[in-house]
Amino acid sequence: AKEAGRGTFRFFEAEMDVRLQERRLLERDLRQALAEEQLRVHYQPLADCGGGKIVGFEALVRWTHPVRGPISPVQFIPLAEECGLIMPLGAWVMRRACTDAATWPDDKLVAVNLSPAQFRHADLAKEILAVLKETGLPANRLELEVTESLLIDDPDRVLATLQVLKEAGVRISLDDFGTGYSSLSYLQRFPFDKIKIDRSFVSQMEKNADSMSIIRAVIALGKSLRIKVTAEGVESASQLNLLQQENCDLVQGYLLGKPMAKEDLGKMLSIASAT
Ligand code: C2E
Ligand code: CA
Ligand code: CA
Ligand code: CA
Repeated sequence: AKEAGRGTFRFFEAEMDVRLQERRLLERDLRQALAEEQLRVHYQPLADCGGGKIVGFEALVRWTHPVRGPISPVQFIPLAEECGLIMPLGAWVMRRACTDAATWPDDKLVAVNLSPAQFRHADLAKEILAVLKETGLPANRLELEVTESLLIDDPDRVLATLQVLKEAGVRISLDDFGTGYSSLSYLQRFPFDKIKIDRSFVSQMEKNADSMSIIRAVIALGKSLRIKVTAEGVESASQLNLLQQENCDLVQGYLLGKPMAKEDLGKMLSIASAT
């Protein structure tokens, strides 16, 4: 038994080594990707639920590894957070997104995701405001998407940062609502303009009565707090119909459009600006 135990231990050790090494390689490649501009930002339409008008786009970072091909942000964002690359990566996405959005019609906003790790940096608000100034994008056309996990760490500091941005005119959106440590007191305490109902509720809404009830409750909550509600991950016309019946404010999902390179937004931008 002793022998077997030791063998298992060695096996784990070896496996850990492989994983650590693998991570180090990926970290090195991500560093290089940033330096060599291998990263891209794609944009997914955000639409008015009732009329379908496009109100803006969410910026989503993309990485195509020269050897491994596309790597999901679900994989490399946490890595960037752990190895200290999230600040330069986040700043790069912010500059890219604001530069692109500055060329869009002036009724289209851009929503940029912020990782909680970026809020640990004291100058975050100042840096974002500097990017706005540099790119000429008006503050009210930038929306920041933050998640509930951000609000647990150091709520006073986060609140102070969000307030500076909010006073400058930037909008704040609470992402993935319902999946984290949701506390309704957050909605009172933090200056949110929008709540995004997580895709998991939308994908279940037709099969699971509880998901539908939660969506209905969040929409009602948004109405009474005057916070707009976006439903994420809308993939079918029947989901859209239900959300329209419930008077949801905004929708996002493959039904309306997948994330696209900025070169492919042309049609969506011109249709939208003609209305
Ligand atoms: P998220 O912020 O919740 O973004 C929405 C994700 O859902 C995106 O995945 C989008 O492509 C996907 N999606 C949108 N509509 C649909 C749909 O109808 N069906 C399905 N199945 N999926 C849909 P993506 O681009 O892979 O991003 C995953 C996550 O990575 C994001 O989730 C966000 O948390 C993070 N992320 C992406 N870009 C950035 C970034 O620039 N900065 C930071 N900090 N995080 C980012
Ligand atoms: Ca988001
Ligand atoms: Ca989300
Ligand atoms: Ca999500």
